[in-house]
Amino acid sequence: MSLYPAVFLDRDGVLNEDRGYVWRWADWRWLPDVVEALIQLKAAGFKLVIVTNQAGVAKGLYQETDVQKLHQRVALELNKRGLKLDGFYYCPHHPDYGGPCQCRKPAPGLIQRAAKDLSLNLDQSFLVGDKVTDLEAGRQAGVTSFLVRSGYGQISEGLVPPHVLVFDHLAAATRHILKITS
Ligand SMILES: [Mg+2]
Ligand SMILES: [Zn+2]
Repeated sequence: MSLYPAVFLDRDGVLNEDRGYVWRWADWRWLPDVVEALIQLKAAGFKLVIVTNQAGVAKGLYQETDVQKLHQRVALELNKRGLKLDGFYYCPHHPDYGGPCQCRKPAPGLIQRAAKDLSLNLDQSFLVGDKVTDLEAGRQAGVTSFLVRSGYGQISEGLVPPHVLVFDHLAAATRHILKITS
């Protein structure tokens, strides 16, 4: 069985502006050059997988169906640009509201579930996130992980281990990924 390389993408602060608990399409704002970067990654043979903590569900701020509806809308908008994402994985839990789980980042559960579902080769995969918890999830899953300064990244930058590469935004991280894998 052949295994595919993937790029795991945190959602808020990497793809769209992190405005705090984004669950309505009306609140979705693409960050600059994101769609073009995704198209380039897909063209290079990467599966594209969103991995996002959505504790607003556990906190009762919105429902899982809201998360799913938003993701369907994001997928639809990308389809219009000729791009198909390969998976949307979210953790609806929060340790203070219903107890711990295996999927909330920094746990690697979302990545591991996607790897199983989509036959991914984690050794050849990458993760892009704007928080230390994203990078930790990637590290635990064995995925090379990068920080971006969009979203919370500028705050996170001082907290990441020195060997972690930091880029201004997804487009810059994408250029790096394409360079080192070509
Ligand atoms: Mg984020
Ligand atoms: Zn969870």
